[in-house]
Amino acid sequence: LITEHGKTMEDISAVYDLKEKLGEGSFSEVRLAQDKSSQKLVAIKCIQKRALKGKEAMLENEIAVLRKIQHGNIVALEDIFETPSQLYLVMTLVTGGELLDRILERGMYTERDASHVIRQVLDAVQYLHELGIVHRDLKPENLLYDTPFEDSKIVISDFGLSKMEEQGALSTACGTPAYVAPELLEQKTYGKEVDLWAVGVISYILLCGYPPFYDENDTKLYQQIVKAEYEFDSPYWDDISESAKDFISHLLQRDPEKRFTCEQALRHPWISGSAALEKNIH
Ligand code: ADP
Ligand code: MG
Repeated sequence: LITEHGKTMEDISAVYDLKEKLGEGSFSEVRLAQDKSSQKLVAIKCIQKRALKGKEAMLENEIAVLRKIQHGNIVALEDIFETPSQLYLVMTLVTGGELLDRILERGMYTERDASHVIRQVLDAVQYLHELGIVHRDLKPENLLYDTPFEDSKIVISDFGLSKMEEQGALSTACGTPAYVAPELLEQKTYGKEVDLWAVGVISYILLCGYPPFYDENDTKLYQQIVKAEYEFDSPYWDDISESAKDFISHLLQRDPEKRFTCEQALRHPWISGSAALEKNIH
């Protein structure tokens, strides 16, 4: 066993009934499960250890950190189980669905709504950064609504383990690196700043419905990202506030040293003030 606190397979099937698949990633799937004694529903992320080969020590470290994470906008890790081939992360079940699905279903969407989502993401990321954790895989699919209700908070579902996945996660395994910061693509050393870049990409998408960097050809996409080559195209951005554009331009900043930190982003008027407009942008 690679995790100090990992429990064995006999334990997991004794405790939980595994039910349908809720989602899947490159090396893992997330299953609905029910606690046999309390009937409580949870989400269990099942990871093939094979995908983490050679990184067991790193994983052990990471799991020690994951156990410490307690934040209202990050899905809680409740328990860990392990077999020789699989790792099971038991998480609190969230039921509100993915961020973009929900936005598409809504008749009305405003800058204020987007600002509210981004503030919660920044709060969570700031917390992670204070713990010394770089998330590295922030994207809309990893942002879930806690409940189906209108006033539901947002939670980050995919915490940290991304670092453990195959190196190829960047170039091959995960498809297009639409959210990946320039310094990551150029294989320079990177830090917390990559998460702020991703928040910039997510903010951009929330406001116009398409990504800032896009090309069917990966090489061309890389070039766009490395040069931070994007635009606030007309007519899509015509009605978006200057404040929103200012906010995004500080996040989609090529030089990580000049890029906003979480603290700076949280203090920007588009997040902390009343600069985000209440006009429908759908
Ligand atoms: P991966 O590393 O495979 O991307 P994620 O943690 O992002 O794993 O989960 C994949 C999908 O599973 C999510 O996009 C979501 O649809 C679903 N999911 C993940 N965690 C939960 C959860 N706690 N509750 C409900 N659904 C979840
Ligand atoms: Mg994910």
